[in-house]
Amino acid sequence: MSNRETPAQKHEYYWKKRDYFLAKCKERRKKKIEEIRSYNRSWGQLNKEKKRNWVKKNIEKVHEYHKKYLRNFRRLALEKYGNECECCKERQLEFLAFDHINGEGKKDRSRCSLTFYRKLVKEEKKKNIRILCHNCNSSIAYYGYCPHKK
Ligand SMILES: [Zn+2]
Ligand SMILES: [Zn+2]
Repeated sequence: MSNRETPAQKHEYYWKKRDYFLAKCKERRKKKIEEIRSYNRSWGQLNKEKKRNWVKKNIEKVHEYHKKYLRNFRRLALEKYGNECECCKERQLEFLAFDHINGEGKKDRSRCSLTFYRKLVKEEKKKNIRILCHNCNSSIAYYGYCPHKK
């Protein structure tokens, strides 16, 4: 030990055995990474199993939670776009729907999905999207006009 007392001596000792130390360090690190990886893997699998079981047991709760989450985003999106049918001024939330002006919605298959509502809430207000109630919406979709405007 006495030959490693001063920093310079310590340094020299280290320098002589540098390769040994580096190799040891590398080995230890590799082992550690492998340990962590295998731990994560088994933990993930365990967790997946746990999660799946929990979902299975609480499927109604999960559905209810999803619905609540979806409704919340739907409400926020409707609020952002005025909460009102552009044609008949219907304001009953449950009757309202989003409409893509010029029928671009046909391309968008996820019109009442969470992703769609979330996008409406988070992104800038789009000019080609309006709110219509289901009456006006389907009338325009099937007949090309709404009786309210006749
Ligand atoms: Zn309407
Ligand atoms: Zn209408």
